[in-house]
Amino acid sequence: MPRALIAANWKMHKTVHETVDFVRGLKDHVGNLQDREVVVAPPYTALQAAASEAQGSPIAIAAQNVHWEIKGAFTGEISAGMLVEAGCSHVIIGHSERRRLFGETDAEINLKIRAGLQAGLQIIFCIGETLDEREAQMTFNVIKAQLNQGLKNVPMGDISRLSVAYEPVWAIGTGKTASPAQAEDAHAFIRSQLAALYSGQSAAETRILYGGSVTPENIKGLMAEPDVNGALVGGASLDLESFLKIIRF
Ligand code: PEP
Repeated sequence: MPRALIAANWKMHKTVHETVDFVRGLKDHVGNLQDREVVVAPPYTALQAAASEAQGSPIAIAAQNVHWEIKGAFTGEISAGMLVEAGCSHVIIGHSERRRLFGETDAEINLKIRAGLQAGLQIIFCIGETLDEREAQMTFNVIKAQLNQGLKNVPMGDISRLSVAYEPVWAIGTGKTASPAQAEDAHAFIRSQLAALYSGQSAAETRILYGGSVTPENIKGLMAEPDVNGALVGGASLDLESFLKIIRF
């Protein structure tokens, strides 16, 4: 059973000062949590300050996106090497907001995953179906295609640095959470696909996180499912007390 991972995705929230205050407060409470990993993903501008505040604590810092090239004429973009230099150990890739609002494709997501791995980062790879796709009974087809395309040419040796976040699009920021049974259904399917792509052992060791309106109230039920190994938390991670309750599920 892999160690649980709880990650905060702050999206475009929190200034540098707000980030440092939050990480300072979080640090005081996570020192003795041996059985779970805590990751915070602030906006780009606050990454370095967050990493420096988190130093010496078990808190890991993630970026919310990355470009796949090492450097070059890509105005507004940030490379994986730059994230590492800023103190990141993780990067979130393929979030549904990036897919939907910024037109990110599975092929680009694949390039980003490979670039992140190449730079030594741990990847939180987001997948999930829309409400229309769920209602059309397409959930498994959609997540299978996202996995296959996102992980194309990602070698078995790199899989230990990958977590998959199952984030049904209809549950993100909507207050509608997947029930523990719905999450388990999708997670078990994702694990079976990872086993087919890699091996049973790597699939068993890969963390599959649930994301979509996770709160202090629903985290316990979700984490009780055998294939739910953690959570990617948006809105409820912005408040320290709420995030702490989620971490301590
Ligand atoms: C997310 O952004 O990854 C997310 C799951 O958001 P929320 O928890 O607000 O639904």
